[in-house]
Amino acid sequence: MTAPRVTRKDFRYIVLGLGGLGSGAAYWLSRRAGGDVLGLEQFELGHVRGESQDHSRIIRLSYHTPTYVRLAQRAYECWSMLAADAKEQVVLKTGGLDVAPRDAAIDLRTYTDSLTTCGVPFESLDAAEVMRRWPQWRLGDEHHGIYQSESGIAMAARANAAHQRMARAHGATLMERTAVGSVRSIDGEVEVTAGGQRYRCESLVIAAGPWSSPVLGQLGTDIPLEVTREQVTYFRTPHPEAFAPDRFPIWIWMDDPSFYGFPIFGEAATKAARDAGGPAVTADTRSFDPDPAQERAVEQFLGRYLPDALGPVLYTKTCLYTLTPDRDFVIDRLPTHPNIWTAIGAGHAFKFASVIGRILSELAMDGSTPSDISPFTITRPILQMKNPPKNYMQ
Ligand SMILES: Cc1cc2nc3c(=O)[nH]c(=O)nc-3n(C[C@H](O)[C@H](O)[C@H](O)COP(=O)(O)OP(=O)(O)OC[C@H]3O[C@@H](n4cnc5c(N)ncnc54)[C@H](O)[C@@H]3O)c2cc1C
Repeated sequence: MTAPRVTRKDFRYIVLGLGGLGSGAAYWLSRRAGGDVLGLEQFELGHVRGESQDHSRIIRLSYHTPTYVRLAQRAYECWSMLAADAKEQVVLKTGGLDVAPRDAAIDLRTYTDSLTTCGVPFESLDAAEVMRRWPQWRLGDEHHGIYQSESGIAMAARANAAHQRMARAHGATLMERTAVGSVRSIDGEVEVTAGGQRYRCESLVIAAGPWSSPVLGQLGTDIPLEVTREQVTYFRTPHPEAFAPDRFPIWIWMDDPSFYGFPIFGEAATKAARDAGGPAVTADTRSFDPDPAQERAVEQFLGRYLPDALGPVLYTKTCLYTLTPDRDFVIDRLPTHPNIWTAIGAGHAFKFASVIGRILSELAMDGSTPSDISPFTITRPILQMKNPPKNYMQ
């Protein structure tokens, strides 16, 4: 689809970047501001060079702090509102299993404590009970897990398209193949140049994903982000009935290294991956070639713990993470630009794409949000360090 011809140059709100988070922001802004919203995307909508485009992403309430659990509760609410508006399902609940050795790098008690604090029901299971319910698993007595029934699949590509379609239905202008060049604050407003044009707005939302550093850098904000190339592999299991979404929950192996996976969805194949195991790259110079060593690591993991999920590789798809050193999001106003807001997903934000979009819309329109975003400030001490300690395991 080609970009619409836009003669108008003044909008109340502009969104820079229409991946998962920016499409969410454009949608929620347009629900309240209609035609006063412009979204600018450098590539075609739905492109695969960023972070947000695949059949599936894990969605779960199970998180290690009450703030994330509450944000996830609001995330489900936002996806439901989008689904009702778009008349299209965007989340599929499969249930979810967090499973690990009892002495794993990630302490499951932080998860059970947070779920308990937020009143979210869950079940603690020993290995025998996990294997009784899901004989696909091969665990030992040293393993345990927690099961939460609301977990499942955020249908990423479909949800992005729904955000975009409904933003346009509410009056927003979304322009693809229109890269933003410069951004500056001027006379209490923001001016952006894109596609040879200058646009002005009252507030700008930046959702540039792995291109965040160059965009924020020109606005004087330099934070230590690391972009990594990650990958997911689809396996044509010969046991499709055992991995149907109504029989097999999404899962996360909560140790270092951490792995995660899905029932069959989107392809006639299971999907599995290692979390945050890829090399540091840049968004413009990264390769799209799968790393065979990472593929083998996933195969070895599945061979040991979920052997029937394995099968011939259908394909491996690379994708980017934009990681903060503490793996917490950034959702904040830029320090020296009162009407420019940004969000960075730290490699686990798709499930929150709609709620983060809504929060960005609240911040841009009202200056505040009912969600607790206090852990996600851009000025937190670790983001002021040049070489911060990194902890990607949560
Ligand atoms: C392999 C993999 C598995 C993942 N699994 C999960 C999961 O199971 N659950 C989960 O919740 N999250 C998961 N994530 C993380 C999640 O997908 C990301 O956090 C989220 O998609 C980030 O979205 P984004 O909008 O910030 O980035 P992107 O989708 O990359 O969007 C940024 C957009 O901005 C555009 N842009 C940048 N600069 C400009 C410019 N100057 N002008 C115009 N446009 C610009 C880009 O082209 C891009 O489209 C996973 C990520 C990967 C890679």
